[in-house]
Amino acid sequence: MAVVNMDGEKERVLDRAPSLEVEESFSNTASISPEKSEPDSRSSKRESALLLEVRDLAISFTQYSKGLRQRTISPIVDLNLVAKRGEVVAVVGESGSGKSLLAHFIMGILPGNARVSGELYYDGLPLTRERVERLRGREIAFVPQSVQFLNPLMRVGAQVPVKGKKKREKEKELRDIFARYRLAKGTERKFPFQLSGGMARRVLLASATARGARLMVADEPTPGLDDAAVGEALGHLRELADEGRAVILITHDLEQALGMCDRVAVFYAGTTLEEAPASDFNGDGHDLRHPYTRALWMALPSNGFHAVPGNQPTPDSLPEGCLFSPRCDIATQICFSERPPKRELRGGWVRCHHAA
Ligand code: SF4
Repeated sequence: MAVVNMDGEKERVLDRAPSLEVEESFSNTASISPEKSEPDSRSSKRESALLLEVRDLAISFTQYSKGLRQRTISPIVDLNLVAKRGEVVAVVGESGSGKSLLAHFIMGILPGNARVSGELYYDGLPLTRERVERLRGREIAFVPQSVQFLNPLMRVGAQVPVKGKKKREKEKELRDIFARYRLAKGTERKFPFQLSGGMARRVLLASATARGARLMVADEPTPGLDDAAVGEALGHLRELADEGRAVILITHDLEQALGMCDRVAVFYAGTTLEEAPASDFNGDGHDLRHPYTRALWMALPSNGFHAVPGNQPTPDSLPEGCLFSPRCDIATQICFSERPPKRELRGGWVRCHHAA
C-alpha cells in the first residue's frame, strides 16, 4: 500500500503480519514488472561496478504504549549505501545504529509493520518485492549473525542449496564447496550441534555462496570466534569480493573491518554520517571527514582509547539538528537547528556542516 508521508513523499506501508519467514517480505517504493524488466545482467555491457544502491532510506515503526496510545519510532532516518563488484564495503556503527535493520531491508525480511521510504536498486533496477524474492538465496545471499539460523534437526549437508539436479552432481558440488571452506569429508552428515563455532560459520558461508551469489550481505559474521577463525571468516569474504562479488560486511569492529575492506560507511542513530575509503583511516584521522568517524578511529585501542563522552541518541529522542551535535565539540548554532545534508568531499561523502 502506498501512502504519502509527512514530507509529501510516497512511501510504502506493509500491511502483513510480521514474520521471519523469508517468503514474507517488504517491497520498496518502485513499481515495475520484474519479469519483463529483469536484465540478463551477466551479458550486460554496462561497465559500472555499482551493484546495489540504497538511497535516502528511512524506516519507522508505530508502537502502542500505555493502552491504545500510539508512538512512532524511527530507527533508520537517512541511510545511503552503495555496494560495488569486487569490493567489500564495511558498515560500522554502535549497537542500535541501524546496521542489521538495513540488512533486513535489503534482504526483504523487515517486519510487516515497517513504514519504509527511500529507494533500493540492484543492478540498475529497483529491487521490488517480487524481484528480491526471486533473487534471494541465488544472486543475493545473507550470512546471518547467528549460527542458530542452521536448522538443528537437519544434517548440515542438506542445508546447503547446491545447484545440481542429479544426486551425484549434488554430492560433488557439496564436496567441492565444503572443501573450499575447509570442512572435512563427512561434515555434511553432521548436525549443527556437532560442529564447532568456526565450522558452523563456515557452513553458513558455504550455504550463502553455494548458488553463486553476486551480492553477499554478512551481518556480524564473526562474534564468538577466536582470532584465527575471525581471520579465516573475513578472509573468505575478501576472496569472494576478489572474485568479483560485492560484499557488505556489517560489523561493530572497525579495526577488524579495516584489515580487509575497501570502503567504510559509518552509521549513527540510523543515519550514514560518512563514507570513506579504508585508506583514510590513518594517523590522527585527519583524512576523515566527520567528527564521529574520527572519534571512532581514535577510540581504537591502537590509537589510545580516546572515548567520546555521551551516548548515541535513541530512535525516540533524536535531536533536531545534527544527530551528533550533543556530543560534538566543534558544534555551532546551525548544528543544533539544521540536519546537515549529504555532500561529496575528498573522494568520499559526509553529513556535517563544517567538514572541509
Ligand atoms: S554538523 Fe556540527 S555538530 Fe554535526 S558533526 Fe558537524 S560540526 Fe559536529
